[in-house]
Amino acid sequence: MNRIDMRTKIVATLGPASGTPDMVRALIEAGVSVFRLNFSHSTAQAANELIAMIRAARAELDVPIAIMADIKGPAVRVYGYGQALPIEVGDVLTIESRPPEGIEVLVSPEPGRIYTNLPDIDSLCVVGQHILLMDGCLAGDVVAIHPGAVSVRMGNAAALRPKAHLTLPSVEYPIPFLSEKDIRDITLAVESEVEYLALSFVREVTDIEEVRRLILRCRTASGRQPATRIIAKIENAKGLANADSIVEAADGIMVARGDLGVEVAIEKVPIAQKRLIRTGYLAAKPVITATQMLESMIESPMPTRAEASDVANACFDSTSAVMLSGETAIGRYPLKVVETMVAIIREVEASYDNDACHRDMPPEVKAGDLPNILSYNAVTVAYHCKAAAIVVLTETGHAARLLSRLRPCMPVYAFMKDERVYHQLAMNWGVYPFLLESPEESLDAQVGRTIETCKRKGGLKAGDRVVFLAGLPLSRKGTTNVIRVETVV
Ligand code: PEP
Repeated sequence: MNRIDMRTKIVATLGPASGTPDMVRALIEAGVSVFRLNFSHSTAQAANELIAMIRAARAELDVPIAIMADIKGPAVRVYGYGQALPIEVGDVLTIESRPPEGIEVLVSPEPGRIYTNLPDIDSLCVVGQHILLMDGCLAGDVVAIHPGAVSVRMGNAAALRPKAHLTLPSVEYPIPFLSEKDIRDITLAVESEVEYLALSFVREVTDIEEVRRLILRCRTASGRQPATRIIAKIENAKGLANADSIVEAADGIMVARGDLGVEVAIEKVPIAQKRLIRTGYLAAKPVITATQMLESMIESPMPTRAEASDVANACFDSTSAVMLSGETAIGRYPLKVVETMVAIIREVEASYDNDACHRDMPPEVKAGDLPNILSYNAVTVAYHCKAAAIVVLTETGHAARLLSRLRPCMPVYAFMKDERVYHQLAMNWGVYPFLLESPEESLDAQVGRTIETCKRKGGLKAGDRVVFLAGLPLSRKGTTNVIRVETVV
């Protein structure tokens, strides 16, 4: 598969269906750019093994691939039953608050009584409070309040999976943003230098600041200052209300539709998704659209028509990446689902109006500081001279992200010397990262070398025009100040 032909990136979650060296390699070859490790369901040892597996595969295939550790965060779940619990319409379940440490292994001796890590559930509910279980598959209303517990009459029937999510719609949960487990998981992920942390249930900017402080205290395996970037998962009412400031504080966002669809009214999710995608890409930050994109392919070799349209519409809205969860983690067709996603993305991109997207950018994107002005005009020059590609020399990846947000029709070949930036940029729409072979050379020499690399690996050919965006002096942060046009010989 030619990765350069595809602008929208694919994030695949690894799990029992895909966590083998052969499958990881096959998924990369099929078009995956980012692997997500779900720390809600992973031990440190399993995560380390997957990280090593991805690193070996990306080195062998010589491609940039980002690793994203998805941290559990302040998730509220139910416990106390070892296997799926059959629930019938009209059943009364009593849900009791218990301290989080050790709750996962407790077994309730009383039928119909289960536990939750949400403290003081009795003080958060009144009679009549609506309660959702298992991401909304089961719903009921509180009928009685007891000390430390509530009784809920269930409104529908289903088998309640162990450790299912509990949701009290629109209630703010009095639990700290990071648990002891989250702190351990973040430390492990940062010390092993994964490219991204995805933070679940971000509510406000202070949640991100807390994690940034924790990242700075970590010691990386290589002894370098951590460079881990933060993706804030928008999945509750407070996160959605604070989305603008969260986008500003984070390095990217995820539209985490699974939890968002139960934490706020389901009909609000499509509009929220459109708004979040636009806010994210205008801020030059990657936006991942996640959950149930091709859900039916967990069991079936073909998606529903609605799912195919869902992936397509997220791409038309300019999402940076589309994510697969259960489809690749536990599904029967992990490879086929990626191939299906690639086919849908390619079809959309063939009819996407990149030119209009560029023309209609708001004034603050076209002007403002020098990097904004130069990146916007580099793309304008590229359109006017019908360039086959834009090449950007970047220290931190920022200049490449500014080009990416303009969603140009030509590929953005980003060259840098830091291999952490190289793998991070695998997430960004339309960006194809390469490592500089001789970073110490002059701009003239770099131009020649990068064109050679693009001819070998990026599909440039003699006669193609290329627009360069760079900063002089080279190798300094924040110096983007050169637009140059070359013709490939
Ligand atoms: C989601 O809720 O959509 C999501 C991606 O989060 P998780 O799968 O971790 O619950």
